[in-house]
Amino acid sequence: MPHGSTQVGEVEIIALCDGVLESSETIEESFLGAPSGTWDDARVRYPDTVGPSDLWRLHVHCFALRTSGRTILVDTGFGPVTAPAFAWAKQPGRLPVELAEAGVEAGEVDTVIVTHVHDDHIGWTAFDGGRTLHFPNARYVIHRNDWQWMAESEDPEDVEIFAELMKPIADLGALQLIEDRLEVSGELTVVPAPGHTPGHQVVLVDSGGRRAIVAGDTANHPVQVTLPGVASGTDSDPELAVRTRTDLLGRAEREDRLFVTGHFPEPFGRIITEGGIRTFHSG
Ligand SMILES: [Zn+2]
Ligand SMILES: [Zn+2]
Repeated sequence: MPHGSTQVGEVEIIALCDGVLESSETIEESFLGAPSGTWDDARVRYPDTVGPSDLWRLHVHCFALRTSGRTILVDTGFGPVTAPAFAWAKQPGRLPVELAEAGVEAGEVDTVIVTHVHDDHIGWTAFDGGRTLHFPNARYVIHRNDWQWMAESEDPEDVEIFAELMKPIADLGALQLIEDRLEVSGELTVVPAPGHTPGHQVVLVDSGGRRAIVAGDTANHPVQVTLPGVASGTDSDPELAVRTRTDLLGRAEREDRLFVTGHFPEPFGRIITEGGIRTFHSG
């Protein structure tokens, strides 16, 4: 599902669609706290976000950012058939195909920024029993709060994610844990955006007077742009996630930042308020 690329100043942002999945939950079960009638309206307004049986249909996007001879990848999708997310994704991810079609070699990626450690964001990380990384020349930038959260979790799914997708990064010497903002280049800054997970983070792009925010799971459905108080069912701290979502959507609109989404049908759009109603305008 190629979505193309866009230019933000000197930074090229290439959208890579690992796949289009159906959640195991309905659209109403996937999001919490919406006023009645919200989803009836959303089924009409955003038909691509609802699958058969009313299940939430989500795209899974990764992004290659190219600037000044560098290649930086944001997130690695839900991964291959051997990845933990295959249990619910029920299909192999397309990231390697999408990278090849975009002319990006795995070996040229120097940095992988992991917005957070949910299994649909770190799937293409390690393979070969944890002995090899899909992006062998990259350092993997992960927030310490996410690392500790999964390292200490006793939930069997978390234990599997940590063992198969996270620990190999550290064992192979590629891990860069961060605790605050990180300037990756003069144009790219990783900024904490907690709530969806304890260590969720986003990437701000500022180049040549143009701006973007690669927003991870700050908002997972266009409805949350209009109603930031609607929580994602997977938010680890829903109240904090609502504050972060409200802050970042306001900032994106105020600063005219291209809003780059992990799970909307369209990866690129603008946050615009008209008639007192804020919506996501793709393109
Ligand atoms: Zn997509
Ligand atoms: Zn997530």
